[in-house]
Amino acid sequence: MQIEYQTLELRLHHTFHIAHGASDTRRNVILRIGDGLGEAAPVAYHGESAEAVTETLAGWQAELAHLDDPSAISWILERCQGSRATRAAVDLALHDALGKRLGCPVYQLLGLSKLPLPPTSFTIAITAPDELAARVREAAAYPILKIKLGTDRDLEIVRTIRDVAPNTTLRVDANAGWTVEQALRLIPQLAELGVELIEQPLSVDDFEGFRALKRARLPIPIIADESVKTPADVVRLADAVDGVNIKLMKTGGIQGALAAIQTARSCGLKIMLGCMVETSLGATAAAQLGGLVDWLDLDGPLLIANDPFTGLHFDGAHISLPDAPGLGVMPIASA
Ligand code: MG
Repeated sequence: MQIEYQTLELRLHHTFHIAHGASDTRRNVILRIGDGLGEAAPVAYHGESAEAVTETLAGWQAELAHLDDPSAISWILERCQGSRATRAAVDLALHDALGKRLGCPVYQLLGLSKLPLPPTSFTIAITAPDELAARVREAAAYPILKIKLGTDRDLEIVRTIRDVAPNTTLRVDANAGWTVEQALRLIPQLAELGVELIEQPLSVDDFEGFRALKRARLPIPIIADESVKTPADVVRLADAVDGVNIKLMKTGGIQGALAAIQTARSCGLKIMLGCMVETSLGATAAAQLGGLVDWLDLDGPLLIANDPFTGLHFDGAHISLPDAPGLGVMPIASA
């Protein structure tokens, strides 16, 4: 099958400032295998970059070019070990090509038709205090906000948002920004402000810290994100958290995400399905699995000013999947 890939500079509507750093643009890689499209959305805090993705693809090019059957997804992923974002791009492109060849959407291929999708949250990144209220008002169409924390004014941020949006469901994501002591102090106060869940309060490897929070019987569920990439990570943290955030870019695509979802369910964990800053290509691929999870966080395309694809459709927080074959994603000619 013919292979092409291209790095894409994505401009963001607002500076994406989280505890790991701030950016106004993101560089993702779009991969085409035959007529299948895939996306890699590498992030530095997982040790990945667009340059590394394209180098990895160059190394896999001969193997991929010999492939003539898009259903050989497991076979080719066995051979293409390494960068998870790059594996995700390959897995997505092959699922898309397979669906197109068979004439059915990927969710149908996976046996996931008719499952209702939970509403997605919308991210409020770390924002200057004088702009925060306006940013929240701008997001009035979204009944669930995910607030990025990990600053020295976290409580103040949530109080401001709660004042502006008294009836909105609030989730918070500290992006590994707190110590155990901070988490134990902040979480009960966030519960009083009606926060529904806390994502990744502690640093990636602080499994003992997560266990300490569990022992404290906090009033809000704790969800691991950066600490969980693979099904093995899900098992390692199963006794320490209430749920996990699964993303295609961490699991290396749809196959890995299904394995992580099944593992998390076997461990009795709640599941959020999230994305990085991804175009409608990556987010539409993730949404194919949306019926399997408790919470969706697929607002990536809403943060991008120059999304070059159409795919999933947002009606406020409600996501509907395209019914075209494959991922159902189309390039926008002018983008
Ligand atoms: Mg997160």
